[in-house]
Amino acid sequence: MQPTPIATPLLFSDLLLDEQLLSAIKKMGFEQPTPVQLESIPLALKHKDLLVSAETGSGKTAAFLLPTLQHLLTSPSSKLGSRALVLTPTRELAQQIFKHCQQLTEFTDIKTGLVTGGDDFRLQQNMLRRNTEIVIATPGRVLELMEQEIPDFSNLDVLILDEADRMLDMGFSEDVLNIANHCNAQRQTLLFSATLTHFGVIKMADKLLKEHKVVALNTLHDGHRNIEQQIVLADDNDHKLKLLTWLLQNETYDKALVFANSRIQANLLQGPLRGQKLRVGVLHGEMDQKDRNRMMKLFRDGEVKIMLATDLAARGLDIKGINLVINFDVPRNGINYIHRIGRTGRVDELGLTIALVKHTEWNLMAGIERFLKQKFKQRSIKELAGKYKGPKKIKASGKATGGKLKVEPKKEAAEKVKIRDRDKKNIGKRRAPTNKVSEETNQS
Ligand code: AMP
Repeated sequence: MQPTPIATPLLFSDLLLDEQLLSAIKKMGFEQPTPVQLESIPLALKHKDLLVSAETGSGKTAAFLLPTLQHLLTSPSSKLGSRALVLTPTRELAQQIFKHCQQLTEFTDIKTGLVTGGDDFRLQQNMLRRNTEIVIATPGRVLELMEQEIPDFSNLDVLILDEADRMLDMGFSEDVLNIANHCNAQRQTLLFSATLTHFGVIKMADKLLKEHKVVALNTLHDGHRNIEQQIVLADDNDHKLKLLTWLLQNETYDKALVFANSRIQANLLQGPLRGQKLRVGVLHGEMDQKDRNRMMKLFRDGEVKIMLATDLAARGLDIKGINLVINFDVPRNGINYIHRIGRTGRVDELGLTIALVKHTEWNLMAGIERFLKQKFKQRSIKELAGKYKGPKKIKASGKATGGKLKVEPKKEAAEKVKIRDRDKKNIGKRRAPTNKVSEETNQS
C-alpha cells in the first residue's frame, strides 16, 4: 500500500532513532535518509528479515547499520558473544563498513570489531573474546576463527549479508551458509544485494530468511541518473591504449578508475601510461594486503589520481572524488558493469563513465545495454578517429544486399509462428529461465 505523503518520514528523526545515533548522523552531515534508508529502516526496526536490492552508493550501509545499532541500544543483553555480524565480500568493503560503523557509534558505548584476512589473527581473537557487539567481517577469516571456536554467535541478534550477489559470485556461498548455521536461529537476517534477479541470491534468501519483506529499490533498470555513460569505438588494444591516454590527459576529473578484465591486462597498461607521465597505481586480487592498503591510501590521499583495477579488487571501493571510470575492457556482464560504474557518481556526485569498445566486444556491450534497458552515448575523439565504426547497418532494401535479406524476414516470421505454436502447447507448464536470468547467473 502506498503511504500518504504526509505520513512519509523525510528526516532521520522521523525514523524514531535514538538521540545518540541522530547526533552521529548529524555530525556525518547526512541531512535526509536516502530512499533505501527510508524504505528499509522502519521494516528492519520491526525486526523483520529483509531482502533488499540497492545499488552501490545508495546509502545501503547506513540502511542496515542504523536499525541494527538502534536494536543494540534499545534491547541490551546480558548474554555472552557478539550481537551483530556483517559479512561482506572484500576486505576493502569490510574496512569501509567498519569506519562507517565507528562514526555512527561515536556517541554510544557500542564496540565494533573488524575481522578480515591479512590482519593479525591473535588481535582479532582477543577482540572477539571481549564480546565485541558488532563484528564486520569477510567470510574466510570468520571460518578460520571458528575452527578455534572463538567467535560466539549463538546469541547473535542480527546477521547482515552485504553485497550478497558478489559474495556468491566469489564462491563464498558454502562459507556463508556454514557461518549462518553457527548463528542463533532466532536472529534477524538482512540480505543486501545489487540485484534480486540473481539465482544464487534467491537460493540463499530461501535458505536463510524467515518470512521476509522485500525492498526492491534498485534498480538495474532505473539507470544511474547521475552518471553519464559513453562508448568510444576502438580498432584494437593499441588503439584503446592511445584513447585511454588521451582521455586521462584531456578529461577533467579528480580521480579516475580504469578497469581491465584481467590482472595481466591491468599490469600491462601501467608502463605505457607511466611513460606518458601519468601517475598510476594498480589494484588487483593477487596483491598482498599490505600493498593493497598502501595503494588504497595513495589513491584516497590523491597522491595517485589514476588507478588500474580488476573487478575483484575494486569491489565496494568507496573513495571520494572518483568521477571518471573508464572500461578499458568491456565487462563480462551487466552486473559487473553496474558494479564498475557504481564507483563513480555516488550519492550527490556526478560522474562520467566511458567504455572502449572494439569490434569483438560490440555484442557484449549491446547485451549490457539491453540488460540495462539503456542506450549509451557514442562519442568519437577526433584526434584519434579509428576505422571501426560499429556493425554495418542492415538496410531493409534488397538492392543494398543483393536481395538476400528478403529471405531473412520470412524465416524470422516462420520462426515466430513456430514459437507461438509451441507457447500454446506449453500453457500452464513450467518455463525454462529466460536469457535475462541466465546472464545474471553466469557470473565470472
Ligand atoms: P553506501 O551505499 O552505503 O556505500 O554509501 C555511499 C556514500 O553515501 C557513503 O560515502 C556514505 O557516507 C554516503 N551516505 C549514506 N547515507 C547518506 C545520506 N543519508 N545522505 C548523504 N550521504 C549519505
